[in-house]
Amino acid sequence: PKTTAGAVDGPDVKHMKWWGWGVEGTAFHHEDKPAFAPFVKKMVGVDLGSDAITAAPAFDELDIPASRLSSEVASSLSLVVGEGNVVTGDLERVVHTYGKSIRDLIRIRGNIFPRVPDAVVYPATESEVAKIVAAAVEYDLVLIPFGGGSNIVGSLEPMPDEERMVVSLDMGRLDRVLDIDEDGRVARIQAGAQGPDIEEQLNAKGWTMGHFPDSFTHSTLGGWVATRSSGMQSDKFGDIADMTKGLRMVRPDGVVVIRAVPSASTGPSLREMILGSEGRLGVITEVTVQVHRIPEQREILAYLFPTWEAGLAAMQAIAESDANPSVTRVSNEIETEMSFATSKESKGVSALVMQGLQRFLKVKGWDLTKMCLSFIGYEGSEEHVSINQKLVAKIVKKHGGIGVGKGPGVLYDQKKFDTPYLRDFFLDHGGAADVSETSAPWSKLLPLYTEVYAAANRAFEKVGVQGLIMAHLSHSYHSGACLYFTFAFEHGDNALEQYDVVKKAIQDAFIQEGGTVSHHHGVGLEHAPWLGQDVSLPGLALMQGLLDSADPKRNFNPGKVT
Ligand code: FAD
Repeated sequence: PKTTAGAVDGPDVKHMKWWGWGVEGTAFHHEDKPAFAPFVKKMVGVDLGSDAITAAPAFDELDIPASRLSSEVASSLSLVVGEGNVVTGDLERVVHTYGKSIRDLIRIRGNIFPRVPDAVVYPATESEVAKIVAAAVEYDLVLIPFGGGSNIVGSLEPMPDEERMVVSLDMGRLDRVLDIDEDGRVARIQAGAQGPDIEEQLNAKGWTMGHFPDSFTHSTLGGWVATRSSGMQSDKFGDIADMTKGLRMVRPDGVVVIRAVPSASTGPSLREMILGSEGRLGVITEVTVQVHRIPEQREILAYLFPTWEAGLAAMQAIAESDANPSVTRVSNEIETEMSFATSKESKGVSALVMQGLQRFLKVKGWDLTKMCLSFIGYEGSEEHVSINQKLVAKIVKKHGGIGVGKGPGVLYDQKKFDTPYLRDFFLDHGGAADVSETSAPWSKLLPLYTEVYAAANRAFEKVGVQGLIMAHLSHSYHSGACLYFTFAFEHGDNALEQYDVVKKAIQDAFIQEGGTVSHHHGVGLEHAPWLGQDVSLPGLALMQGLLDSADPKRNFNPGKVT
């Protein structure tokens, strides 16, 4: 079976392990990265040399509330999808309770389960989804669509005081690319398809969607649309909101069909309303996305900048120029140090090259503790790649940076989907880490960054921890960019309270400095407290009105977003 969560009794659908990221048997190791443990010790005081101190408990040590699914509802759902596709086993229900934020991981390891879905149901067709949606209304159930379970904003968990039966609707059996319109350059894809399912099927015919979030290996198309996701190559391919041309969403009164057209002037955009709806408006069964021919050439080059300010200015200049890279990313000095610390030890020729480079930069007058690592991606014809690399090289030079070739970019590309395993490892050793991301106009990025740093450091002090905060710019736009912050600290027994203080400080700073509450992770429960400040109170009332009228009995993932 494809299942990786352990022995579950459902159908052959891929899931992540119940207690952390990814698949069983894959984990982060630092033995071959000698600079990593000292970096962590210096930055947050956590000793990685010691044995794991807070490893996940055995599954059978958990106290999981019993399923409340009535036999009447069980039979009714079984009639729709078949008995084997209505699952009430504990492991299955736990896998479907939370996403993968640090709050989720701490709760799941800490045996904190105020409310768990009563059943997981696996439809295989849109008409089965429609019958389940009808059953949700008929029996007054709570229905929570489940994609890959990778969100980090609390957009899956049932509300703690939910008294009705809760059904998690796992979309994993709807995982096929249905059709590619080669002339129209769009593909119809089922919503439960995970990143690798999609790319394998498209690549086999010479196409790519170009959506590669860091969670690519375990997230789904439906989840991407429902959270307004953004992938690493968004500078070229767009965010999921740009890629989504059409879709089908099942509602109690029928299927909403947004036909795939390049652009439409048909009143307020229904397509946009469904994007980011987090399961509250209905169940997305199919999405028509724009696709691209697999690029002839694809390269990620690495650059170094003498300072963060220089790196940011260079990214802005690239966004304003005629250059059209697929990735623009620059890490601040702390994240740069972390990147070097997670690299394997350089030996032989590469060690000599590294030493030579450092000497060269010192001679140029760089303070190496301020140096910032950047990756810029290029995709397209050989000519396009070559022209763009030249355009970027000029801008980098103008901002005092230097190119350091393909090597680091190749490594980054290979290991980017492994990075999430690091957080589980860190948690095993008593460290809590999570992320907050925003977007803001170019003019506001630097003041926002400065204030986020100050706010996070005040919060660390308030909770009495030695905290680490680091950042990178990802996803550039004509008018601004996304700033992505990672924060970490050695947590105490009150890890969730400590996390809340730090998270709040950072999110408050986003709003105060003109950024948005989230550029691509969505709202869920986690970001809902800031939504009114972000979209204005009348704006929030408008959104609430839409959700209330679309779901008057609150059957569809209630409590999320607003
Ligand atoms: P789930 O977590 O299963 O669900 C998310 C929400 O969507 C829920 O409200 C759910 O009810 C709803 N939903 C799911 N499927 C449907 C459907 N078919 N119909 C209606 N509603 C549905 N996000 C990014 O955008 N970019 C990144 O680079 C990125 N990197 C990440 C890295 C890590 C390590 C982690 C843990 C998360 C990351 N995320 C990232 C966040 C997350 O992967 C995204 O939010 C993703 O879009 C969630 O997809 P999913 O299939 O896992 O959805």
